[in-house]
Amino acid sequence: MNRPPRYAFPPLPLPALAVRGTDELMPVHRIYCVGRNYAEHAREMGHDPDREPPFFFQKNPDNLVPDGGEFPYPPLSHDVHHELEMVVALREGGRDIPAGRALDHVFGYAVGLDMTRRDLQGEAKKLGRPWEVGKAFEHSAPCSAVVRASEIGHPDKGRVWLEVNGETRQNGDLAQLIWKVPEMIAYLSQLFTLRPGDLIYSGTPAGVGAVKRGDRLHGGVDGVGEIRITVV
Ligand code: MN
Repeated sequence: MNRPPRYAFPPLPLPALAVRGTDELMPVHRIYCVGRNYAEHAREMGHDPDREPPFFFQKNPDNLVPDGGEFPYPPLSHDVHHELEMVVALREGGRDIPAGRALDHVFGYAVGLDMTRRDLQGEAKKLGRPWEVGKAFEHSAPCSAVVRASEIGHPDKGRVWLEVNGETRQNGDLAQLIWKVPEMIAYLSQLFTLRPGDLIYSGTPAGVGAVKRGDRLHGGVDGVGEIRITVV
């Protein structure tokens, strides 16, 4: 006889994203993020992309904010930056996934914002400390609805852009990704056991910058979708 578990207090709801054009939700497991995956952004952050390969960090699944939502300016920071990114959503996990088969694991794609407390991240970098305070705070992961790969395929080119109050701030192209989607999945699956519902924020192009209360962020990845967020 299988009895349902008796929790000592009610569990929190499972984080999830809308699936575009359906009433279904995609349950979210983990959020991985690629750092310095566009050469020009690596340079604007003071790094040499030829000598320092991209790397990973994580956010918390409950840091998600849906499209059209609000991003409350977070505490203990005076320099919060936007990073507009394509997000890869997995429907199947695994370990040591070969790059040649990695796309079979993809459920779909979305448009996300890797919101960053740049001042706290900078301090952590300088002191050799972990990045969570800069990257994995409340509401730090706005993300659009997921679009199924069966609908749009696997985009490897297309403009990656962000406007703040109608003014273009970020403007890159998926073709500029240093690690392509199959490579990030393959590499990540050597470090971690990937699971259905994992999200991978694929990195941001150049043009990151500070936001302030009242800013309206509108970004997109051509061929994938768009996201709108207000800073409050
Ligand atoms: Mn990022």
